[in-house]
Amino acid sequence: MKPPLQNVSIFCIKQEMLSLYIKLILNISMLRAMYLNFQNKTAMPIALCLLFTLLTTSLESTVQDLDPPAHAAPPYALSTVVIDAGHGGKDPGCLGSHVQEKDIALKIALSLGNKIKIAFPSINVIYTRDKDVFIPLHERAKIANRAGADLFISIHCNYIGKRNKATGTETYIMGLHRAQDNLEVAKRENSAILLEDDYTANYDGYDPESNEGHIILSMYQNAHLEQSAALAYAIEEKMTHKVERKSRGVKQAGFLVLRNTAMPSVLIETGFLSTDDDEDFLSSSSGQESIAEGIFQAFAAYKEDLELHTVVESPAQQTVEPKTAFFIQLAATGHELDLNSDPWRGYENVRVKQENDYYKYLAGPFESLHTANVARKKFDGDGFNGAFIVAYQGEKRVRIEEVTSSALN
Ligand SMILES: [Zn+2]
Repeated sequence: MKPPLQNVSIFCIKQEMLSLYIKLILNISMLRAMYLNFQNKTAMPIALCLLFTLLTTSLESTVQDLDPPAHAAPPYALSTVVIDAGHGGKDPGCLGSHVQEKDIALKIALSLGNKIKIAFPSINVIYTRDKDVFIPLHERAKIANRAGADLFISIHCNYIGKRNKATGTETYIMGLHRAQDNLEVAKRENSAILLEDDYTANYDGYDPESNEGHIILSMYQNAHLEQSAALAYAIEEKMTHKVERKSRGVKQAGFLVLRNTAMPSVLIETGFLSTDDDEDFLSSSSGQESIAEGIFQAFAAYKEDLELHTVVESPAQQTVEPKTAFFIQLAATGHELDLNSDPWRGYENVRVKQENDYYKYLAGPFESLHTANVARKKFDGDGFNGAFIVAYQGEKRVRIEEVTSSALN
């Protein structure tokens, strides 16, 4: 017998309230971690961007939750983590006065993996390397993708020119925000490909010495930006309050090792080998153990949050709600232009789409309106005046107002 309509309404409202409550708790826990990072002023713009995305996602999701799923969704469980010790073999990474980055990174990586295995025996821990060997950057992402990993954690040490007083940890996620400021860190980490035999073929002609190449690289959008940021903020929070190191905050830049990972991913610079205090700390067993413990505690908190609040969509729901992709329309012409000639040359994510009698030149896809808008401003600065954002669901062009109520900023 069907329940009375009134009862159905009450059921829907209860579902909505529960969903909203859970999302508020999740947002508050992430905001707390962000707040603790506000001691570093550069973290504020990233946090505000994420807050905007989180709130709009919560509102949109709440509306969708009014329809109860036909089948109960299976619980989500983080099952595989890839731990990537930076450098190795013929690539020593940066050099301290008496230690090499590759050795520090490996020790922290193995210690972190052990802690995860002991605390969560069901989790599959995969190392990109567990000894002193050279692994190309593109191979590291492939290891994670082949394993269907849920998380990718890359461990490194920082370095600035000559001996100095720079100190503390930084956790990076892929992205454009202030990428110019973080150019030197990304260029140094990406330069490892110069030791690979055929790097021009494996990295689409990327030149680690080129500033322009770096900016284009930083425009690669990781579809898991929010989750990457949640872990990154948790790590920096633990570095401050558990490990008692100076946190230099969560930052964005273009890293080749993160470019092709198909899961949330972070790159941690655990301290400066160009600074006596940091080098002494990182080269000691207690320092390595302490850093690994900080990352582990952040991982455990991230895992718990994710598993508590992630709702896995059933296949039925996925077909009802097609995924929206955002693009930037740069131009439209009556005849097809060659993308290998100016002004398109150098933009790897531009494609041509034929609609009616026009060839449209689209950059993307971008997962959110916000990330598309950030990239649009970059294209605008490059001379693509009048570029605007369009939305597609599959091959179908949809009105932006139909898929989001967010205003462009
Ligand atoms: Zn490194």
